[in-house]
Amino acid sequence: MIPLEDARQRVLSRCVRLAPTSVGIDDLYGLVLAAEVSSPESVPPFDNTAVDGYAVCSADISAPPVTLRVVGELAAGAAPDVVVQAGTAVRIMTGAPLPIGCDAIVMVEDTERLSDGGDVKVSVAVPVGAGIRRAGSDITKGDVLFDAGVEVNAAMVGVLSSCNVRVASAHPRPRVAVLSTGDELVDDGGPLRLGQIRESNRTMLLRLVAEAGCTPVDYGIIRDDESALEHALRAAASQCDAIVTSGGVSMGDFDVVKMVLSRIADMEWMQIAMKPAKPFAFGEIVDSERRVPVFGLPGNPVSSFVSFELLARPALRMMAGHPRATAFRSTATVVVDSDIRRKSDGKVHFDRVFAYWHEDGRLHVRRNDAQASHQLSASARTNALLEVPDGNGLSAGESARALLFGPA
Ligand code: AMP
Ligand code: MG
Repeated sequence: MIPLEDARQRVLSRCVRLAPTSVGIDDLYGLVLAAEVSSPESVPPFDNTAVDGYAVCSADISAPPVTLRVVGELAAGAAPDVVVQAGTAVRIMTGAPLPIGCDAIVMVEDTERLSDGGDVKVSVAVPVGAGIRRAGSDITKGDVLFDAGVEVNAAMVGVLSSCNVRVASAHPRPRVAVLSTGDELVDDGGPLRLGQIRESNRTMLLRLVAEAGCTPVDYGIIRDDESALEHALRAAASQCDAIVTSGGVSMGDFDVVKMVLSRIADMEWMQIAMKPAKPFAFGEIVDSERRVPVFGLPGNPVSSFVSFELLARPALRMMAGHPRATAFRSTATVVVDSDIRRKSDGKVHFDRVFAYWHEDGRLHVRRNDAQASHQLSASARTNALLEVPDGNGLSAGESARALLFGPA
């Protein structure tokens, strides 16, 4: 058995970041920037009002209340065609450019329009600059907005739009083939014959791949048949950037998955010192010049999930351009709510637990007893993997490390 960190190192050292391309703004969300982005324009592009109110000369209203003559009106989008002179004001709406002559905006709440409509009574004094948003106060032309290695989020798309960045250099989303193997698997919705089970790993892995920021491509259920499997793997290698398989990688298996992958990919068959998901295979299929990584996950559903989380996901995210910090899930120190007993077996156990914010202000975890590797339904109700180090377990109240894969 090898430590998880060693296995991870072997995998990550063989996964290469996908070459950057120029991506239009409508497709940037969720991609990782490959180069820093600077702003071609200042935002706001002109001085404008932050509030609805009256554009004034602040000196005019230093001793309120004061009545000013209203000499015009400016809405957002209008070019100012009026001038504010001593004793006058211009009615102005949020976002409108400042009329010449004014140096402050009085909020409409601090005014009263007199009944003839020609005058406004201002009941407060305001300093120079009140209510004004200066050109460039959000972004100055030439500013570095975002660094390489950052994933584009929704607000970033907004920022890029605000300063007219229409394209940026980003790593493409890896296309990831997902296939499951096994003669026992069915997904046609019909009655089960004895020995058959309903396929579940592939449907889960397709969503996990998408959630990791990649494009999942479904290669279906492949029978335990050498030529069918070889055909599917070669097709996947020619059309995708990575392949995730489930099933057939266990130690004792005399399995077609092992035979085929050993022949067509340059595989490492690992036994990782962890539970669940001890068996794991990693290698590359060479397709023309490209080396396409293959992640061979174990077939037990919980093992498939944990193996994907700990090994495949970080590697796929590195391929998508993430630096280590965001390729990996966040970890947190958590408090264990009840005793967790285990026996020493040379492995780290990754128990599926539910992490929640306790009233003591710390993150606590609750564990249920359904920890066998076929009990996916219990895992589906959790949001964290608790690291239970080799030994006798953890006692209630003790702290340990957890990897968070869902909101707490
Ligand atoms: P294997 O790793 O192929 O030896 O499979 C281990 C266990 O996981 C067996 O009980 C399989 O029936 C089950 N299994 C394998 N693949 C899947 C799958 N795609 N969906 C659900 N269960 C699976
Ligand atoms: Mg199998």
